[in-house]
Amino acid sequence: MNKLQQEIKYLQGVGPKRAELLNNDIAVFSFEDLLYYFPYKHIDRTRFYKINELTPDLPYIQVTGKIVGYAEIGGSYKKRLSAQFTDGTGTIELVWFKGTKWIQQTYKPGTDYIIYGKPNFFGSRISIPHPEIEEAGKQEQSFKSSLQPFYNTSERMKNSFLTSRILHRLIGQTLKNCLNEVQESFPISFMKKFKLISLQEALLNIHFPQSVELLRQAEYRLKFEELFTIQLSLIKQKVTREIAVSGFVFSKVGDYLNFFYKNNLKFELTNAQKRVIKEIRKDLGSGKQMNRLLQGDVGSGKTLVALMAILIALDNGFQACIMAPTEILANQHFSKLSMLLAGMEINIKLLTGSTKKSDRTIIYEGLNTGNLQILIGTHALIEDTVQFKNLGLVIIDEQHRFGVAQRARLWQKSEKLPHVLVMTATPIPRTLAMTVYGDLDVSVIDELPPGRKPIHTSHIAGNQRSKLIGLLKNEIANGRQVYIVFPLIKESEKLDYKALEEGFENLIKIFPRPQFSVSMVHGKMKSSEKETAMRNFAEGKTQILVATTVIEVGVDIPNASIMIIESAERFGLSQLHQLRGRVGRGAEQSYCILSTSHKLSEDARKRINIMVATNDGFEIAEADLKLRGPGDIESTQQSGMPFNLRIAHLGKDQQLLQYVREIATELLTGDPLLEKPENGKFYLLSKKAGKENVNWRMIS
Ligand code: ADP
Ligand code: MG
Repeated sequence: MNKLQQEIKYLQGVGPKRAELLNNDIAVFSFEDLLYYFPYKHIDRTRFYKINELTPDLPYIQVTGKIVGYAEIGGSYKKRLSAQFTDGTGTIELVWFKGTKWIQQTYKPGTDYIIYGKPNFFGSRISIPHPEIEEAGKQEQSFKSSLQPFYNTSERMKNSFLTSRILHRLIGQTLKNCLNEVQESFPISFMKKFKLISLQEALLNIHFPQSVELLRQAEYRLKFEELFTIQLSLIKQKVTREIAVSGFVFSKVGDYLNFFYKNNLKFELTNAQKRVIKEIRKDLGSGKQMNRLLQGDVGSGKTLVALMAILIALDNGFQACIMAPTEILANQHFSKLSMLLAGMEINIKLLTGSTKKSDRTIIYEGLNTGNLQILIGTHALIEDTVQFKNLGLVIIDEQHRFGVAQRARLWQKSEKLPHVLVMTATPIPRTLAMTVYGDLDVSVIDELPPGRKPIHTSHIAGNQRSKLIGLLKNEIANGRQVYIVFPLIKESEKLDYKALEEGFENLIKIFPRPQFSVSMVHGKMKSSEKETAMRNFAEGKTQILVATTVIEVGVDIPNASIMIIESAERFGLSQLHQLRGRVGRGAEQSYCILSTSHKLSEDARKRINIMVATNDGFEIAEADLKLRGPGDIESTQQSGMPFNLRIAHLGKDQQLLQYVREIATELLTGDPLLEKPENGKFYLLSKKAGKENVNWRMIS
């Protein structure tokens, strides 16, 4: 067996217990996995500081010197060990809270040591907690290198002494044992053409850089391969599908669309809408099955575009459906479309979890006979009992709320796959779109209908809230309505609900009946109660709606002009942008107020500043991507990424991504299925990507 495939527990120094941690916490199962566990940064260890040079703004530093003596400080409860350390220019304190006995036995006063760590300043006193210590001249490294890599580890790993350093040592051992077994994944001519170092060199230098330049080249090669492999696999799937799957041909535009255009459309389409409709029409007539993502900021007029695509389907004798993520949204689509289609003889129905049995029967029958032309609904649409006669077009609204598998199931409703248009109001940066939806075509509505006033966004911190009351009373007196949103997070659910209830009680006091009325919606309410509260607000019966993020997606109440977001620092950028999009839908000036505490983390401050500075969803999405740290797995998952990147960063490596995408496209143009012998290595790469990332296959 190939050494690289050996289980990690067989690596010397690992064993079953540590292996379990490596499996669970960093998904390292084999020797090979360990080689692909890349450091998140490197620190130049050639630089030594003198103690009298140290300043508070330095990150990690190293100094050489001697321990003068130890002192144990504090009682039995909060004991710590302190050592005075000097290099002749000054003295610093080294501090340990754990393992104090072992430290004293291991590191002797008088010996020359290299100390590495992050200095803390207390006035003129400098201390380094839990420094790394090495005997000078005895740096133990399997390969000599002055650039020290740092690896992410979990708390549990640290407690089992699986620190960054130990990982580095284990990786060194693995490299010694099996680097020569690593197979080159690219053809030599390809590496020459794109100036890539070999995979073996890259793996060695990412963990043990021989120089800054080689480290850079190693990073480049590994990022290139990672992004290229993803693109190759995605584009290959797209090409394969286009070859294998044919689509319904919607060859004509007929009475429905023409009538609608002439009589029901009350305004001029924006240029962006016209362009996108053209793109969609081209797909629908091409004989290929459409898989298109329609992106556009909230209020950019996506629904209208979707409706026109639906009318084309109807004109060609097909049925169409729209699937929305919540009942509220499905209802809204239904009433909006019914209104837009007023005066046209089109059979359109709504199907949600609350649809009565008798109505269901009618709907099922209409679907079967083809008499029912447009069906709008929630997840209820993908139940097995829902069978269309000839479903030609599926519109999926706000795709990020739908699981990939659900999308796939919806497809299987007819023998031939219907055309699919996915609409999202969460602008996705180009790079992310290329990666997550790399096998979809993308249309963008990047223009708002004319006459919209940009939302005015401001930030208030601490207890300036009282200033708001005047603004609110004023707006309400002018007939406007107000949203107030509270965060609700699973981990702090109890406290969050408390804050919500308290906020609600407070508002009732400030805005008493009968002059004012305040309603509340949150996830714990019965859905009938939620509906009632929403309806009352939508109909203007209540003026203030206190809510959790249940109102985040798509709710459309043009008369609401103020959005107040409480504890705004706890929301992510895309969520803040979504929430803000609930206002600014009418002709009036709208306001968004981000209320936070005084103390803000640096990242939270950046998020708030971006929100205040711009209304542009794409700009915000880009910023969001850049603010995410490397390996920020949680946010990657939230963004719907079907895989994790080990080394490339979607925010920072956009140019490279674009570049490798072009290379992959060109390669596949000449050999769509990668069947030519000279492309054997690429075939293997595309296979590997498909295996590691099962979700890709299903995403479209
Ligand atoms: P989205 O679904 O992208 O959030 P909608 O399709 O709901 O946006 O449109 C938002 C509002 O703008 C709706 O009230 C719609 O009727 C209106 N609208 C759409 N397109 C135009 C246009 N070209 N000119 C004027 N108003 C438009
Ligand atoms: Mg919409």
